[in-house]
Amino acid sequence: MDYFRNEKNYLLEILSKLVEQNTTNPPGNEYLAAEIVKQEFEKLDIPYEIHEKEKERTNIFGTIGKGEKTLLIAAHTDVVPAGDGWNTDPFKMEIKEDRVFGRGVLDDKGLMASLLVLAKYLKSIEDSLNLKIIIAGVADEEKGSEFGMTWLADTSILKPDFAIIPDNAGNLCEINIAEKGHLTLKAKSYGVQAHAMSPEKGINAIVNLSRFIIELQNYQFRYENDELLVKPTMNIGLISGGTVVNSVPSYAETTIDIRYLPSQKSSDIVADFEKIASKLKEMDNKVDIKFEIKADAQPLYVSPNHPLVQIIKEEGERVHGKIVKITGMGGGTVCKDLARNGALAICYSAGDLDFYHQVNENISINELLDYAYIISNVIKRFNSEF
Ligand SMILES: [Zn+2]
Repeated sequence: MDYFRNEKNYLLEILSKLVEQNTTNPPGNEYLAAEIVKQEFEKLDIPYEIHEKEKERTNIFGTIGKGEKTLLIAAHTDVVPAGDGWNTDPFKMEIKEDRVFGRGVLDDKGLMASLLVLAKYLKSIEDSLNLKIIIAGVADEEKGSEFGMTWLADTSILKPDFAIIPDNAGNLCEINIAEKGHLTLKAKSYGVQAHAMSPEKGINAIVNLSRFIIELQNYQFRYENDELLVKPTMNIGLISGGTVVNSVPSYAETTIDIRYLPSQKSSDIVADFEKIASKLKEMDNKVDIKFEIKADAQPLYVSPNHPLVQIIKEEGERVHGKIVKITGMGGGTVCKDLARNGALAICYSAGDLDFYHQVNENISINELLDYAYIISNVIKRFNSEF
């Protein structure tokens, strides 16, 4: 622990440089932060690669150790807009006692700096590693990872066996092993246009869509009991239809956000919705509703008994003296991109969830150092399995 607590100045030096780089996404400009990470990799003699799907949307990763199996630890270098109401300059790191302030100190530049402290240590024990460790700073996490992890994972530029993603806070006390699936479904209602003076000559697509939406309120998801993710959810979030008020609308649509559990299949949910629409059609032949899947991210589930999960739990509890909970979440992280491509991916991080995307974003310096310490212990223990 002392080794890591003594790296405080190194951590703060990197973090202050990272905070100064304006990588607000959009537009991103992650090349600015990647340059800082690159300089550290060069100083530490860590071989690195740089990959860009689009110019200036830079992803960088360094490799330490050799081995058939790869463990990736990836922070992101973009940040959300600063917003108004800061007590300090959001792009200048400020220190107050044990806390640092600035945009990104928690999400996720502080963790990037912590990973470089970790990288420095791992480099010093490199000969003992039978596991290849990849330390990455990726782009575009705040806007969906199209230029970051989604691209890196789907193209197999990054193809780890295991991944720890430090981007879900939890103050070192939560390991996130499950995420709901996320289905975005559009329901499209077709009618027949007519003049508003003779609506009986048309078929009103808005009215028929409304009937479908009302039916949806009675829909019960079918799923198995899930301790971590509890239950699926549905939100009717968008609606549009018609062109002018004096015409019977021939088209209307609604877009539905569905978060589903590992025990469910998105195709079953769509089939259920199709059944509801065909029942309406049986009652009234003029109803014509079709469905379009706009996006579908599969759920994520890692066994709580996996050695990597257990080791993080034990090491976190040992260092922090508090229970480390195993949790699930409704949101999506880049773990999904990695899991879709064969990795066992979990989230574990430092910091308070309450300060994500807030003004006066801040984090404990010791927590960032403890994170590097805990992960170094996790790597040493997990390493002995290979
Ligand atoms: Zn964020």
